[in-house]
Amino acid sequence: MKNYEKYMKQCIKLARKADGRTAPNPLVGCVILDKSGKEISTGYHKEYGALHAEADALNKLGNEAKGGTLIVNLEPCCHWGKTPPCADLIIKKGIRKLVIGMRDPNPLVAGQGVEKCKKAGIEVIENILHDEAVKLNEVFIKNMTKNEVFVAIKTATTLDGKIATKNGSSQWITSPRARKEVQKIRNRYDAILTTSSTIIKDNPSMKCSLQGGKNPVRIILDRELKTDFSSKIYSSSDEKVYIVVDEALDEVKTLAIPTHVAVIKCPSDNLKLDLKYLFKKLFELNISSVLIEAGGKLNGELVSLGLADKIYQFMAPKILGDKQGINAFEGRNIGEICNTLNFKFEHIYAHAPDILLIYSN
Ligand SMILES: [Zn+2]
Repeated sequence: MKNYEKYMKQCIKLARKADGRTAPNPLVGCVILDKSGKEISTGYHKEYGALHAEADALNKLGNEAKGGTLIVNLEPCCHWGKTPPCADLIIKKGIRKLVIGMRDPNPLVAGQGVEKCKKAGIEVIENILHDEAVKLNEVFIKNMTKNEVFVAIKTATTLDGKIATKNGSSQWITSPRARKEVQKIRNRYDAILTTSSTIIKDNPSMKCSLQGGKNPVRIILDRELKTDFSSKIYSSSDEKVYIVVDEALDEVKTLAIPTHVAVIKCPSDNLKLDLKYLFKKLFELNISSVLIEAGGKLNGELVSLGLADKIYQFMAPKILGDKQGINAFEGRNIGEICNTLNFKFEHIYAHAPDILLIYSN
């Protein structure tokens, strides 16, 4: 078992190489051992439409795969998608043992790949590093099981949890090193979502400056159309820019929106856009994951509504010490500590002098 865990770790590492590029497909890595237990091939799913990990690894081999072991973090597929089913290829190549991290999260196909292999006489070992396999594909699993977009919030705070002074001054709370890490996080998500207030205040471009990184789709919540279209975020790029406006907004006003910016009309209530409606809409637009980089009000609303799956909180060793400073999560007014919103700890990373805390809902 220990040995399988070692190879499963390798599968996860391989899979992660394609982070942010496989949606709506999962992240998958694969390792193949020959019948003596020697590693003979590896592969991973490089991007949507490319070979599946199992095929990527098996196609590099001829007869050597016969009698071997195939280790993969997700149950092999058994249906025709963009490529032939991996279960068939595994059987055809003469693999004797299949080791998986988790079953397919799609309840309609879960277990069928395993069954097919078992029927062909392959020994199947399941749930090796199961929790890590689940974490790796958290976006895919939410998309599959709930038909919803995965939502993460990124904040940068002082030790006392403030993201800006009372005047809105926030650049920069964290160090260049932490801000570089933000680029890596952006690269994992299909889209970045921000608000008109953030654009008016900071004029960010919200692009990914990582070498070889992809620019995410940009989404701007601008209920009343307050932003200036010469702001950096609207500069055209290969990726789409969406502006989300109140569906009741005067049609004449929307004429000012440049043609490369797509408009999403969203219902609103009490001067707030209906975020549940918006996220449903984004999923329909094939956006599988979104990173929120906005202010305390939107963050607070998202966590209060239970819409945030994950929080990336960078924390700098600075203290604002002013209760009028802006909190990372605003808008809740609770009397008792038992009424806090509770998140689960996932990871802590040092990006000295700052730290990155990752929590999930
Ligand atoms: Zn497959």
